[in-house]
This record gives sequence, C-alpha cells and structure tokens, in this order.
Amino acid sequence: MKPNHNRVVITDCDHGSIEEEKREFSLIRAELILAQVREEEDLIRACKEADGLINQYALLTRKVLEGLPKCKVVSRYGVGVDSIDLKAATDLGIIVANVPDYCIDEVSNQTIAMILTLIRKTAFFDQKVKSNQWDFHLGIPIYRIHGKTLGLIGSGRIGLEVAKKISAFGVKVIAFDPYLQKAGEGIELTDFDTVLKKSDFISIHCPLNESTRHLMGERAFQKMEKKPILINTSRGPIIDPEALYMALRDKTIAAAALDVTVPEPLPTDHPLFQLSNCIILPHIGSATYFTRRKMAELACHNLMAGLSGRHLPYCVNPEVYQDNSPG
Ligand code: NAD
Repeated sequence: MKPNHNRVVITDCDHGSIEEEKREFSLIRAELILAQVREEEDLIRACKEADGLINQYALLTRKVLEGLPKCKVVSRYGVGVDSIDLKAATDLGIIVANVPDYCIDEVSNQTIAMILTLIRKTAFFDQKVKSNQWDFHLGIPIYRIHGKTLGLIGSGRIGLEVAKKISAFGVKVIAFDPYLQKAGEGIELTDFDTVLKKSDFISIHCPLNESTRHLMGERAFQKMEKKPILINTSRGPIIDPEALYMALRDKTIAAAALDVTVPEPLPTDHPLFQLSNCIILPHIGSATYFTRRKMAELACHNLMAGLSGRHLPYCVNPEVYQDNSPG
C-alpha cells in the first residue's frame, strides 16, 4: 500500500513496542517514524518534515516548534502537557492534544497504595527484615488511618477518584483547587494554607505550570502543622527538592512518597536517597499493560482527527481554532 502524504513522527516514548501505533496509522496509510530524540537540534532534524507529532517527554520548545513548518498537530502520550510550549504552538497554529482519562483508576490506586505504604510503614519494615532486623519496635509509632484528614492539591479527575477511594478508610477529604466553584462529593473545598495546616496526608494532583512550580517549597512546609505525609503522583517540579529534603530531614513532615521527581531518573547520589522516610518510584502511576495500550491508541486517535481536519476530542489549546477553523 502506498503511504498517503501524512508523515507522523513519534519524538520519543518509553514503551517498548509501538505495534499499537503502527496498527492505527496503517489504517490511514500514514508514514510512521519513531525518532527517540530529546535534544532541540535532533528534534528539529527528525521532525521537520512531519505533519504531526506524538510526544512523550521530549521538550517541544518554541525553537523546536518554529523549526517544524509542516506540523499541524502535536498529540501527547498522557495527561500533562508541560513538555510542550503551548503559547508557541497556538501562535504557530499547531493543535495540541492530550489523553486525559486513560489512567485515572491506576494513578488514584497508586496514590492510595503510597499512603498505605507510608502509614503502615511496609517498605520500611521490609527493608529491616531483609537486613536481619526482625523487630517491630524499630518502626513505632504506627498510626491509624481512620479519622485522619487528606488534603488534595488539585481536585480534578485523579484527585476526585482518590477522594472517593480514601473515604472508604474513614478519612476526611479537604481540597485546594482555585479553579473549582463546587467541590466533588465528600470533599470540602478550602484555601491552600488550610490544607497545609489541617492535613495528615497531602496529595498533589494539579498540573505543572508556572503557578505550581515549587508550590511545595520552604514556606509551604513550614505551614504543615500536623507533620503530614506528602504524596506526589503529579509532576516532580511542583515540589522544591531542596526544601523537601530539609523538611524530611528535620521531620517538619513525617514522610514522603514520590512517583515523580525532578529530574527523572533521579541520580542515585541525590540526597533524598539517604532518607528512610522517603519512598521513590520510577513514575509508575499509570503503568499497567492495559493503560499503556489505551494511551497509545487514544494519542493516535487525537492525531488522526487533527490531520484529517476534525475537531479533537482532547484539544488543550482550543483557541487555535479561532483563526484556523477546521469547519
Ligand atoms: P485534571 O486536569 O483532571 O485535574 C487537575 C486539577 O488541578 C484541576 O481541577 C485544576 O483546576 C487543578 N489546578 C490547576 N491549577 C491548580 C493550582 N495552582 N492549585 C491547585 N489545583 C490546581 O488532571 P488529572 O488527570 O487529575 O491529573 C493530575 C496530575 O497527575 C497532572 O499533573 C498529571 O500530569 C499527573 N499524572 C501523573 C501520572 C503518573 O503516572 N504519575 C499519570 C497521569 C497524570
């Protein structure tokens, strides 16, 4: 079969096989290229003839986007679009799409698992037992989960699902989300400082942008009166890593569990590796076989819709249509 005139480049991806993508694009006979590049110059070189991109972590800066004269659509694998300069894309008439709903269940489960791991100190005791220390006194006190307060930073799709699940453990949920008028069921909306002050557990579920970068910094940690545990399954840079290290070292907070870090991967000589009250995971929140396939499939559908001039179900810069209506 002859390819049509669309060339699609996958800038980078961390899943082993792109069989799903090959299958999807063969249906529209588009040419598909897996570039696996992350540097600006390499991105421009690999993508300059592309009509559409699928992107995972490679940073699509203004310079990169300006170097792609044919590109009409960028479809991101996953929820966060912090890898893409949205303003530049909109200025250049490039439609950007994400996949917002493929892993709500998985990331919320991951969050609950991390809260339970820290509260029950399971990872801590596992390490003790394996280093020949069979002694529960090493980890006391162990606190109850029932009756505690969870504070959400961001109460969108994943935050809401976490609230629903944790309430089964008898936990009260409060949330800071400046863009919500109305709280989800069982959630009390409040201000940022109240979440910091009243929470036994704080879980971050907001996007990374200029207003959330280092939102959890020294000032925020000092306001955490209940020495909470902190969970981050959103994006690493929302926490200032130096302030986090100090807060964990000085016991301003009891513990932290990070599914996301800055940078990723975190170098093994990073000071956080020395702290037994910090659990670090390799960004596995969304990782199940099912979700990875679903993510790839939906990212392809977004791109195919954009290339064929249809409105995208998950467009994140709809203002781009004002000047470039697909009709
Ligand atoms: P969502 O868009 O449904 O919800 C985000 C919520 O954050 C919204 O309600 C929004 O109003 C709120 N928000 C925006 N700015 C805020 C601020 N300054 N302070 C507090 N709240 C703010 O997104 P989601 O699907 O729930 O995803 C949440 C996060 O999880 C994103 O950062 C995403 O990148 C991340 N994520 C991580 C993984 C993983 O594997 N660990 C997987 C999927 C998503």
